[in-house]
Amino acid sequence: MGAAAMKARNPRTGEEDYDFLESSREEIAATAARLREAQGEWDTIGPAGRAVVLTRFADAIDAHAAEIAGALAVDTGRGTVSMIEVQGCAGNIRRWAQRGPELFDRLDVEAHPSATPGVEIVTNYSAFPLFGAIAPWNFPVILSHIDAVPALMAGCAALVKPSEVTPRFVEPMRKVLAEVPELPLAYVMGAADVGQALIEEVDYVCFTGSTATGRKVAEAAARALIPANLELGGKDPMIITASAEPDWAAGVALRASVVATGQACQSIERVYVAREIAEPFLKALVAAAERVELTWPDAAKGHLGPFIFAAQADKVQAHIDDARNHGARVLTGGEVEVLGGGKYLRPTVLADVTPQMTVMREETFGPVIPVTIYDDIEDAIAQANDTEYGLSAAVLAGSLDEATAVGVRLDAGAISLQDGAMTSFVGDATNQSRGCSGLGPSRMGDTGMLRFLRERALIRQMGDPLPIDAYAERGEG
Ligand code: NDP
Repeated sequence: MGAAAMKARNPRTGEEDYDFLESSREEIAATAARLREAQGEWDTIGPAGRAVVLTRFADAIDAHAAEIAGALAVDTGRGTVSMIEVQGCAGNIRRWAQRGPELFDRLDVEAHPSATPGVEIVTNYSAFPLFGAIAPWNFPVILSHIDAVPALMAGCAALVKPSEVTPRFVEPMRKVLAEVPELPLAYVMGAADVGQALIEEVDYVCFTGSTATGRKVAEAAARALIPANLELGGKDPMIITASAEPDWAAGVALRASVVATGQACQSIERVYVAREIAEPFLKALVAAAERVELTWPDAAKGHLGPFIFAAQADKVQAHIDDARNHGARVLTGGEVEVLGGGKYLRPTVLADVTPQMTVMREETFGPVIPVTIYDDIEDAIAQANDTEYGLSAAVLAGSLDEATAVGVRLDAGAISLQDGAMTSFVGDATNQSRGCSGLGPSRMGDTGMLRFLRERALIRQMGDPLPIDAYAERGEG
């Protein structure tokens, strides 16, 4: 690994039209050392000082939003979603700049009597000096900063490795960073070995990506004896009960499954619908799916862009083909189309799926909606929970109470009620992924920042320290 030339593919044209340099091991080590050096001053300015700098960071992102979103749009093939991402990143920074100082004010720094007589305890907090993030390609800007920003607010310096698949936003982002030189944040570029090198440099790593890579990150973090927070894949179920209005349910299920071409961890990947409404639901779902348009040939029109990562299109097609070969019916969509060099898939609705099919067990990460009809809600809950994943889930019903009663029985970190995939736009709902979907404290809610503060106990002897004679042998025991 050493300053090698790398290329990124344009998902609309299929051409490798962007050159960038992989960070060498020396560069990663030097960047980490520079950040560690800067962290001291960053810590010293305190939460209020850091909030001011972070707000300037958000302002600078806003000022360069068109340039950042433009670069992101080339890497992801998405215009509107790219601008939403950049604005969402700035909004997230402002939210932490406001919430962070409030959380520091609430930390319990008072002395408390210990259960040990004559002793008082004070908790002292200090941030992990250098935080590291490894991010995936599906939402490159949001996911490169989602953990780094609360880490910075806590007082850490932050080193981020975006995915090699989507590196273009880093160039304009480095211009933003040049306008906020006090902010100890830097990016390193490259693939798996750069991710591994980053883990060796940092004191805490947050990883967002696939379950398979998450295991490798956890192993490397274990070798380095640093905490690893993992946010991994999902196979999110949606249960639709008999009392739900079918047209409304179809609209929600469609959006929650196919937005961003289904390349979102919290996308709905399995739908369970009550037999009583299955027919009108499926009819409405197929009709709504067929109204969705590809953003081809006009990138400024339509709903679904190309697959960002070419190999992902092949994986999604393999899931559909496996389902079809095992007896599933494709009600609409079903074939990846190559248009102008990009790979696209229209919303695909599958019926007559069985729990054993790949599309029901492995994360598909595409605009595919396998629908299972159930007769008994207990069976629907059991099937929804029959997965190695536990990222999020959703329930649609005739009332919020009914949806809640089902939702609390689903084995996942976040449950959307009367909607789907809400974690994509609700950033302050504390949740912990289960099973193969993640490890460690919540990135959402207040824990998102508090996890980066280490607790140091100041143990005060208020009386007389024990003399050595207290431990002298007295012929006991
Ligand atoms: P990957 O796991 O392939 O990659 C994620 C990141 O890890 C990339 O930066 C990648 O580098 C890097 N990486 C790859 N191998 C290693 C390694 N051995 N050591 C250290 N780092 C490594 O995920 P994808 O990019 O394919 O992203 C899609 C996945 O992300 C899906 O499973 C999705 O569900 C999940 N995801 C989870 C979210 C959540 O909050 N739970 C949110 C969004 C996505 P490079 O790409 O440069 O090769």
